[in-house]
Amino acid sequence: MTGFVYLVGAGPGDPGLLTARAIELIGRADVVLYDKLIPREALGFAPEGAELVDVGKIGGGPQVPQEETERLIVDHARAGRTVVRLKGGDPFVFGRGGEEAQRLLAARIPFEVVPGVTSGIAAPAYAGIPVTFRGAASAVAFVTGHEDPAKPETAIDWDALARFPGTLVFYMGVRQLPRIAAKLIDAGRPADQPAAIVDRGTFPEQRSLAATLEALRERAAGAGIGAPAITVIGEVAGLRDELGWFERRPLTGRTVVVTRARAQASALAARLREFGAQVVEAPAIRTEPLPVTVPAI
Ligand code: SAH
Repeated sequence: MTGFVYLVGAGPGDPGLLTARAIELIGRADVVLYDKLIPREALGFAPEGAELVDVGKIGGGPQVPQEETERLIVDHARAGRTVVRLKGGDPFVFGRGGEEAQRLLAARIPFEVVPGVTSGIAAPAYAGIPVTFRGAASAVAFVTGHEDPAKPETAIDWDALARFPGTLVFYMGVRQLPRIAAKLIDAGRPADQPAAIVDRGTFPEQRSLAATLEALRERAAGAGIGAPAITVIGEVAGLRDELGWFERRPLTGRTVVVTRARAQASALAARLREFGAQVVEAPAIRTEPLPVTVPAI
């Protein structure tokens, strides 16, 4: 019997943004093949004994080639297993999920797609940037910034993007920002248009920065903004200073060690996380019931 493959989006990083369907499917997977940019907590829903395979790839680092990943998915399914292919954000947004679906179709393996919250919407939202806004942006374009703009055969039409009447959302690291900003400005996008970059969006260590398109490229490098990052270009980026909420929580950027006994720690940890803290649970206290002697009456 052939197994079944679920191409599942894990959301952008905050485990609270995993969908109910993702949690349910991870919970009955025989194998989870996961990428680097998934919330670690997602794997905690896998059943005891499930095989967890890291096929992650991160800019430049060691990676399982796509071909090998696809072969693994097919092999596990052919062995009759329930396979969850867990991808960051949404599986069909720059995640090569479409290619994996084609491969499964060719191999006659049944599959389902479970959309996820994409980082191109979630990271701006956590930075206080609505990607559309009445009167300011009635269209939004999602663009991959990983294409090398220096390549003559680049698939990105810079002139069209510069003219695009709405928000541009780039999925890319900060390294590509200077070249992309230059390309857009050369093609006619106003250099003083608001822009923002959101690094590690929705993770407790999220950092964002807003400036004009021209200024952002220098400021981002100086501010130590890294990857993964989403860049937003358009009037809406200017709303970050007003609507940014996540990085403004009172304990943002702080790590708190909770030493309470395990049984009491999680409620406190949850409260601290609500306030923006990163919490390390290190129970240093153990509570035991007092031996109570009931006096005989
Ligand atoms: N399928 C994913 C995108 C995969 S491409 C999705 O829908 O979100 C990988 C790129 O996504 C990264 O280079 C980065 O630009 C962006 N990205 C993924 N997670 C991110 C996060 N938490 N914060 C900011 N950008 C992120």
